[in-house]
Amino acid sequence: MKEKVLLVDDSRQAREAIKAALAGLFSVFIEADDGLAAIKSFVEEKPGFIVTDIEMPSINGYRFISTIRNMDDGRDVPIILLSGSKDSLKKKLTGFNLGASDFLMKPFENEELIARVKSLLRVRNLMEELKEKNTLLEKLAVTDELTGLNNRRHFFESTHSQMALGLRHHFKIACLLMDIDHFKKINDTYGHMAGDEVLRKMGSLLKACKRDGEELARFGGEEFVMCLFNTDSESAVLAAERFRRLVGEHDFSSVAQGLKITLSIGVAVWPQERVTSIDELVRAADKALYKSKSLGRDMVTLFEWTPGIKLA
Ligand code: GH3
Ligand code: MG
Ligand code: MG
Ligand code: MG
Repeated sequence: MKEKVLLVDDSRQAREAIKAALAGLFSVFIEADDGLAAIKSFVEEKPGFIVTDIEMPSINGYRFISTIRNMDDGRDVPIILLSGSKDSLKKKLTGFNLGASDFLMKPFENEELIARVKSLLRVRNLMEELKEKNTLLEKLAVTDELTGLNNRRHFFESTHSQMALGLRHHFKIACLLMDIDHFKKINDTYGHMAGDEVLRKMGSLLKACKRDGEELARFGGEEFVMCLFNTDSESAVLAAERFRRLVGEHDFSSVAQGLKITLSIGVAVWPQERVTSIDELVRAADKALYKSKSLGRDMVTLFEWTPGIKLA
């Protein structure tokens, strides 16, 4: 990878000196002769390292640093501040307070500049590695390993906040709980690996069919859950029917010759009597799902509250 550095100094001679010292560490040198030009170069070129003078016309090194630190992209980029004038302690402290990573007096020894740059690059690279790992961990924590869909945790986190929005803006939320019929038999007949393959295929089928903004997740085992926002019960049942038919008509022959799968679905729509949380909405959908199962499977049932029914 090409390592880019931004050199900011109003003296061309000073920039040449820094360039000569750092020739072995960077492959691209971007130069600017004042803070304003430097901000422009930073935005356009996205250098991974900055060496800047303090005393410059118009925007000086201090204002340049604080501008960079206020940008999302500039929060973590290492910045070495150079000063050619006296009163270096005060300047150093001001620079550090504004977010400089290191400070060096001019004229500097090449070896010292090189050592400081190397040390900052090391820390920066470790931080980047850590950030990448964190992003991966965050993704893993909300992703179902088998299907690649969101997992139950993501489902509850995201629908919980949607419910707060729904309450404020008075829109309805429909929850569809879908359970594969007689899935145990598929495992028993074709083996667990074939069962896994069915779950993966089911995940991509549902994903391909869902619309933007709808939340789909693997709820667990052979159950999938969806939330449709701003959707009333009539449209929710139509959507559920669409999913039921899609799966029922799909040919799973790639898993096992002639294999057909059906889904039972329970639908519940909020606002709903006695439903105050997303957990309760899912439980209401589960009640309706149970009804689909007991009435013969491969069907959609809409939850209707009846006195005495318990969602807790
Ligand atoms: P019903 O129509 O009543 O839903 O019957 P069912 O057989 O689908 O339901 P049951 O709850 O009896 O069985 C679910 C099965 O799903 C049992 C379990 O071993 C299987 N299962 C759960 N998770 C996985 C998985 O990740 N992979 C595979 N292959 N099977 C799984
Ligand atoms: Mg200067
Ligand atoms: Mg089940
Ligand atoms: Mg099942």
